[in-house]
This record gives sequence, structure tokens and C-alpha cells, in this order.
Amino acid sequence: MFQKVLIANRGEIALRILRACKELGIQTVAVHSTADANAMHVRLADESVCIGPNAAKDSYLNIPAIMAACEITGADAVHPGYGFLSENARFAKILTEHNVTFIGPSAHHIEIMGDKITAKKTAVELGIPVVPGSAGAVETEQQAIKTAKEIGYPVLIKATAGGGGRGMKVAKTESELLVAWSTARTEAKAAFGNDSVYMEKYLGKPRHIEVQVMGDGQGNAVHLGVRDCSLQRRHQKVWEEAGGPTILPEERDEIGEICAAAMRKLKYSGAGTVEFLYENGEFYFIEMNTRLQVEHPVTERITGIDIVYEQIRVASGEKLSMTQDQVQFYGHAIEVRINAEDPQTFAPSPGTITFYHPAGGVGVRVDSAVYQGYKIPPYYDSLIGKLIVYGRNREECLQRLRRAVDEFVIDGIKTTLPLFQRLMKEPDILAGNYDIHWLEKYLAENK
Ligand code: ADP
Repeated sequence: MFQKVLIANRGEIALRILRACKELGIQTVAVHSTADANAMHVRLADESVCIGPNAAKDSYLNIPAIMAACEITGADAVHPGYGFLSENARFAKILTEHNVTFIGPSAHHIEIMGDKITAKKTAVELGIPVVPGSAGAVETEQQAIKTAKEIGYPVLIKATAGGGGRGMKVAKTESELLVAWSTARTEAKAAFGNDSVYMEKYLGKPRHIEVQVMGDGQGNAVHLGVRDCSLQRRHQKVWEEAGGPTILPEERDEIGEICAAAMRKLKYSGAGTVEFLYENGEFYFIEMNTRLQVEHPVTERITGIDIVYEQIRVASGEKLSMTQDQVQFYGHAIEVRINAEDPQTFAPSPGTITFYHPAGGVGVRVDSAVYQGYKIPPYYDSLIGKLIVYGRNREECLQRLRRAVDEFVIDGIKTTLPLFQRLMKEPDILAGNYDIHWLEKYLAENK
């Protein structure tokens, strides 16, 4: 096992990783920007190193500074968390070259899944169902027309280098196709410096369903069930659920086993998430994230498995601590993301927290790094905490969530907590009846 882990992240996830290290008896090193000198992860770590000024590109993305921090402290492994350098293959390579373990998959697996076309090709080779579409880039008008005919309208044109849902265009008919195709190329060129696009069947009312996988790089892999993350705003997840009635246990086991088998074939190491759109009982692969995900606690809650603990174990060379039949699912869990944002306009709301009282009681978990008197800096993303609630079934979970949201007090800044109070009055939310467009539509109609 590792002696000392450097946590290359900040906020709630840095604290989450630090807690797992403490439980495993591993020394911790926090790295931080100047703005984060008083952050909770810095206060609780055994050692800390300032790695640069406020801007993330000069600190949390500064590979030489992080390498120097490893050297100075003698850390033998780095946990990247999510965001920042977590899916940076070059960072994983450099660490390995310096005999520091990257707690995550191989640089090769990060690279394959980081490119949309190779990711989709790999998914097909591994037997994962994908959205019907072009085999690769669509380069001519004739090819665009032919491909659209084959897959059927409406079609979606997507930038190969795309990210965050940018550079996508829908065409409902052949007359819309050529304009959509050339606009998508122009926009892709402007946004990503690369005008390569590909095509997919456009799904009208899908849900976002993702499978949590874990592998040990030795050919063992399991799935930990699915999460429904359909409630999104601007492609950012807002509310995530695990367990419960949306996906039947048989469907969960079937798609889960397909993903676990794929990870066994790849000899994948660490945690990963295979993301799908789900419509009319069918799953369609959209991408794979080769890292720990923000919403991992809902899966931990319904399986009792500590995903960060497993990541650290397998990175140190141990086998997975469980087999698929030892993975059991209990009840239902919901996570809501507490952002320092105006709950109506979603404008960022940094500043000082003048009063802080987190929710507690039965079935409640709060992952956050803020405290009373903490000043939220304006330089990073606005997620300040996650409220995770458990119930034996979805109804009980919702009752508890309502109670916990009412109990939570954060004064001095605006947060998204009032949005959740509103959502829990909506019949569609109570019934679990929503797709990936539901929240945007609701927000547009209820200003
Ligand atoms: P990005 O990397 O830009 O986020 P994704 O492929 O993950 O691109 O797609 C982003 C979002 O666009 C998805 O979460 C989904 O909401 C929507 N989307 C992607 N592909 C399709 C499709 N074939 N049909 C309908 N919606 C889609």
C-alpha cells in the first residue's frame, strides 16, 4: 500500500479523497492555489504545498508544480479527483515515468476514451451498444446525405473534437441537412480549431443513464449498477439517482454485465463510467469517463462500496476486493448538487458563508468542504457541496430529501437549494417522469 498520497484537486472531492486515505492509514499531501490557502482540504491534510496563483491553469493544472510537490514531499501516488488533470493522459504518463503512481486507468485507456471517434469504435468492438451513425468523420455533402438516409431522420451532427455539448446541430429533413452540416463544421472550426464532424441518429426524449464500473487492471472487473442523471441544465448534471424504478433490475444487470465484460477485455484499471442515452428500452453509448465522477456517492450508498477506497487499492496493485455476485443493491439514493449560484438565473455567487448548518439525521450524507466563515473564491466551479439522501424506496428517499433540503442553511451567498424545494413540488419529479430536456423546459416556462 502507498505511504503518502498527493491529492491534485480542491473542494469537496479533495476532502472525499483525504477521508479515504485517512481510513487506510495513508499520509496525505494537499496542494493548493494561493486563493485556497485556508481551504478545508489544506487544513486537514498532513502536509500542504502551494502550487501557484489563483487561476487553475497556473495551479491545479500546473503539471511541473505538481511534480515538484511530489518530489519535495516524497508522495508515492497522486489522486487526481475529477476535472482538472483527471483525464489528462500526459499527466498520467509523466507521473509513471517518475515512479509516482497515477490513481486511475492507464494513459492508453484515457487516450482512447478521450477521443469521440476512437471511443465509439472501441465501444463497438467491445460489444457495447452505440447510437446508430456514421462510421467516422463525414467529409463530403454526398456522404452526409447518404449517411442520413441510412440512419434515418432526425439526425444529429456532432464535432469530433466537441465537448460540453458544443458544436451539435439537429437536422429533421434532407432540406435542413446541408445547412446544418456546414454550420456545424464552421462552428466546430471556430470553437475547437478542427472542422471534423460525424453523424448520429437524434434521440428525441432520452434519459441519461450511466453504468459505474471498477477494474483492477488484471482482468477483473465489476459493475456497480446504474445512475439516472437526466436532470441537467446546459449539459451539467443537477440531480442524480441510483436504484429504484426507472431501470428494471434485469435491464441494469444486462447493461452492467456488458460494460463489466468490456472492462475485463480491456484490462481496465480503476473507476470508470460508461454513459448512455436510454430511450424505448434501448441503451446507446455516448461516452466513457475514465475517472471518479461527482455523483459516485449515490452508488456508494446503494451498494455499501467505497469507490475511492477501491481506486486506491487497485492502483497499489491489489485485486478488486469483490466479485460481481458480492455486489448487492439496496434501496434508492438521490444526490442534489449545491452550487454557489442564484437559483433563478444561475449566475455565480461567490462570497463569505456567514452561517452554515448542514442537514443531518437518518439516511443523510453531506460531502462538502465549506464551513462557517469560509470565503468561496470566484476562480473555480461553483459546486460547494452535495447532499446525498437514502431511502428503502424512491418515495422514502424523496420524503427524506425534502426534509433535508428544508433543514440545510447556508447564509451569506445564494445557492441552488431553493431550486430543489421547487422541484420537489413538481408531479413529474415525484413520479420520476423526466428526460434530458425536462429541466431546461421547466426553467424556461417557470422564470
Ligand atoms: P459532449 O462531449 O459535447 O458533452 P456528448 O456526446 O456527451 O458530447 O453529448 C452531450 C449531450 O448531447 C448528451 O448528454 C445528450 O444530452 C445530447 N446528445 C448527444 N448525442 C445525442 C443523440 N444522438 N441524440 C440526442 N441527444 C444527444
